[in-house]
Amino acid sequence: MTDFVIPPAPASSLPVAGSSARFPIRRVFCVGRNYAAHAREMGQDPKREPPFFFSKPADAVVEAAGVIPYPTLTSNLHHEVEMVVALKGGGSNVSPEDALDLVWGYGVGVDLTRRDIQDVAKKLSRPWDWAKGFDASAPCSPLYPADAVGHPTQGRIWLQVNGMPKQTGDLTELIWSVPEVISHISRAVALRPGDLIFSGTPAGVGALQPGDVVAGGVQGVADFTFTVGARPV
Ligand code: MN
Repeated sequence: MTDFVIPPAPASSLPVAGSSARFPIRRVFCVGRNYAAHAREMGQDPKREPPFFFSKPADAVVEAAGVIPYPTLTSNLHHEVEMVVALKGGGSNVSPEDALDLVWGYGVGVDLTRRDIQDVAKKLSRPWDWAKGFDASAPCSPLYPADAVGHPTQGRIWLQVNGMPKQTGDLTELIWSVPEVISHISRAVALRPGDLIFSGTPAGVGALQPGDVVAGGVQGVADFTFTVGARPV
């Protein structure tokens, strides 16, 4: 056994639906602007851009349940509901044809975003980390094995705030499919078992307030409900 000078951090993990076992998380990759209508609402032309990616820390993933804290340094915390892909395999230069062999299962999560910080980062050509990678910035539902839910390519993806519909789309509207996304990421970095991929958000992103009840889901896959915590003092 390795003799560490301080105790190593515990592995981040998510519950597996219908099981007491958990899914251990290695890295979290996120796709930017993968639904045309969301790209348009962010002022971009969806047709002219190859996919691009950013990361969140593994320990930013928490179960999308109970109270999710309102983060510091923002007054414009945005919701982005996304289907989440969980990998059981890895590799580099994976072809789209082989990509689904790497997938363990699916869930649905929220790419929480400090939009005000992101707006400044975009203007000043700074990194997005502080806008995207804060604590608890990646709440996610329990994960479902592909054995149970298949490899979804259609179905409604939605998010409501206090019962009001805010985001809606369909997996058929993904600009880059899950196999294409896996293939693209694997050309940039080696994928490994335990990696999660947030696959992009449909239109309708907007601000959350303390006390808001946030529900979302992907039809036929998973859903969640959580409450936004109080603004930090
Ligand atoms: Mn996103």
